[in-house]
Amino acid sequence: MKKIIVAFCILFANISLAQTWVPGNTYYNSNTYVEYIFGNMPLIISAPHGGTIAPSTIPDRTATICGNSSVTTVTDSNTDDLARALDTSLRNLLGCRTHTIICRLDRIKVDMNREINEATCGNAIAQTTWYNYHAYIDTARKYILAKYGRGLFIDLHGHGHTKQRLEIGYLLTDSELRSSDTYLNSNSAVNNSSIKKLIGNNLGNVNHVELIKGATAFGTMMANTGYPSVPSQQDPAPLSTDDYFNGGYNSQRWGSRDTGMIDAFQIESNYTGVRNTTANIKKFADSLAKVIKKYIETHILTPAQLAQCQTTTGIFNLSQGLQKGLFSFYPNPITSGFLNIQMNKNYQRIIVKIMDDKGSILMQQSYLNTQQLRFLLPPNLKGLCLLEIHTDKDWEVQKILINN
Ligand SMILES: [Zn+2]
Repeated sequence: MKKIIVAFCILFANISLAQTWVPGNTYYNSNTYVEYIFGNMPLIISAPHGGTIAPSTIPDRTATICGNSSVTTVTDSNTDDLARALDTSLRNLLGCRTHTIICRLDRIKVDMNREINEATCGNAIAQTTWYNYHAYIDTARKYILAKYGRGLFIDLHGHGHTKQRLEIGYLLTDSELRSSDTYLNSNSAVNNSSIKKLIGNNLGNVNHVELIKGATAFGTMMANTGYPSVPSQQDPAPLSTDDYFNGGYNSQRWGSRDTGMIDAFQIESNYTGVRNTTANIKKFADSLAKVIKKYIETHILTPAQLAQCQTTTGIFNLSQGLQKGLFSFYPNPITSGFLNIQMNKNYQRIIVKIMDDKGSILMQQSYLNTQQLRFLLPPNLKGLCLLEIHTDKDWEVQKILINN
């Protein structure tokens, strides 16, 4: 076992997985590197690269440390403030709150838009922070699906490319965007798109081409408010010589391309006039808020459906969404020191954590390519604990009683 801490879970107390989430309240994970403003809209804003905290307890993500020569550590300046400003703009416009998830750690320490190995380079604090970030997104997703059945995820970034415009990323490559409309409306292109579910299921019954570069496309609406965007009606595709970001890990994981009813895209914003001053951030956030509202009302939910956020209390019991059948374990309580875990199938990578009720990790162990686990718990671990298991794509928490 790695890193055994002599610690007790809660003794004689009845801990609960239920947590009350209040729209507009800000929540932090246990190390406070992740900030989550809980919302009541069917909208998740993720700001993975705006953080500036760089503690020396986490090594820098250098090529040597990470064993990866292409590791990227550039900060998307002020995109954390932009995310908070957008929440304020939507509150003023609609009277509702956005689910806003912000990484406060500098990208030199962790990258929330990469898979965990490249994201954390193996550091345990960075790993915990990475899981907490994505767990908050998962909480927002569960809330939205429970209340609305569908929603929108936007991953908010900043680029330093020469052309001053927003780059909207639907996971379609620049060469796909330059292809014919026939291709873009084909199953091949639709299956690559981070708004895949929306294409076959939108209020105006419009096609993929309309959704990415028609009159009601997100980029077109932003261009109409004074923020040039690609793709859009005005600027349908990047040139082959242009730099262009088409989306990343978050759009893949949380968008509808692979699974689910939440459509996603990435916004890469230019700097000057957009996020370089507090006044410009507010102006841009106000425009983004108007366009997001119009985009949702045009394509995803009717104005009346969206306006339900004004009366949605948002109190939400997370435990309703937690029992997913990812694993079972025995015995419970544990009396001989041995814990047996049965996963619902074989997984490439499994991380087992035992935590106290504050989410502090008391024991953590990784396993590769297995379905059944059996291990001896440290003798000093006692009481009612949380057993949390992560696979590459999912996670689940259950209560566990240790009576060794
Ligand atoms: Zn970025």
